[in-house]
Amino acid sequence: MKKTVRDIGVKGKRVLVRCDFNVPMNGTCITDDVRIKAALPTIEYLVKNGAKVILMSHMGRPGGRAEMEYTLAPVAERLSILLDKKVLFISCPEVISERVRDAALKLGEGDVMLLENTRFRKEETKNLDTFSKELSELGEVFVNDAFGTAHRAHCSTAGISAYMPSVSGFLMEKEIGFLGDALEDPERPFLAIMGGAKVKDKIPVIENLLKKVDSLIIGGGMAYTFFKAMDFEIGKSILDNESIELAGELIKKAEAGGVKMLLPEDVLCSEEFSEECRRGIYEKDSIPKDMMGMDIGPRTMELFAAEIDSARTVVWNGPMGVFEMDSFSEGTKIIAEAMAKSSALTIIGGGDSAAAVEKFGMAKKMDHISTGGGASLEFLEGRELPGIAVLEDK
Ligand code: AMP
Repeated sequence: MKKTVRDIGVKGKRVLVRCDFNVPMNGTCITDDVRIKAALPTIEYLVKNGAKVILMSHMGRPGGRAEMEYTLAPVAERLSILLDKKVLFISCPEVISERVRDAALKLGEGDVMLLENTRFRKEETKNLDTFSKELSELGEVFVNDAFGTAHRAHCSTAGISAYMPSVSGFLMEKEIGFLGDALEDPERPFLAIMGGAKVKDKIPVIENLLKKVDSLIIGGGMAYTFFKAMDFEIGKSILDNESIELAGELIKKAEAGGVKMLLPEDVLCSEEFSEECRRGIYEKDSIPKDMMGMDIGPRTMELFAAEIDSARTVVWNGPMGVFEMDSFSEGTKIIAEAMAKSSALTIIGGGDSAAAVEKFGMAKKMDHISTGGGASLEFLEGRELPGIAVLEDK
């Protein structure tokens, strides 16, 4: 168990908090502030308990330069509204300057300031000591609340902790709690649902999950690499040639380990990667040569929904089809609906599945939606994330 802000005295201390304010933007407009809202419990706790709060985050990939389209100024504005108090923001291309240091030292108890995008500094993503030390000198305690970037060893997520006591924030605690408990001590039956297109990224996750789950659903674009491993004709469906052999091994591992692996029984195919052409539903082993699988079929939807219905813990990562196109979003929607209806503990592993659940208006019905796609995948893979590893144990 990691120490949290609850376990340390914060009154009168300058507390550096790494948040994940990497929010989607349209020009200078924040189009979705879920990540900012997710950081509020920690910030509000620190304010209430008399800390001098210095927030930091990255946004986008400015490549180590002060690209002003990635400034955190709009985040400071939105935070001021959400917290109902002024959030001090000093526009500074180097992130830290004499003026910034001065402002940090002059903060009063309960004051909040936000630093400029940490990725304006080229040292940040290289985790160089120089910038880690510079950041650390602004405060006295480090709080990591950025689960979404915890899989990156950067100055503001990991390097900084070499110079000061480091604990987790409430969002980080919640993420580790839900994902960790699911992996270590799930109520059974434990079902994992994997979808999406990037088989290579997900094979290590499946490998780890096979040691933990009772059943595993594989849908989405990934399923076709598994079908290929089973020698099925997959037509023009998405295929990761390099992963065919590994997919075959995973099928065998599941069998050997007594894990029920469910692949689609039928699929909705289309002639092209488009909604504007001929479509049809085909059995898993008879996809025509000139068609590609775009979503799971109706029989599979029923089968997968029934599996969700009988599980007590469900973790989902990756859509069942090309859900961005309405004609191919039904399978993903059915999974979201089944999870929303289920009384099991339901966890969404961030990324596209989180976007899908949001799109179908079912976000509130899930027990936990992770704020980190890549981070939650690495967590499910059983890896220790650098931004978590550096935090003190209780
Ligand atoms: P990932 O990043 O691996 O979770 O993949 C997410 C993407 O997979 C989404 O953009 C989906 O459109 C895509 N996807 C899901 N099913 C398919 C499919 N059958 N063919 C091609 N792409 C798919």
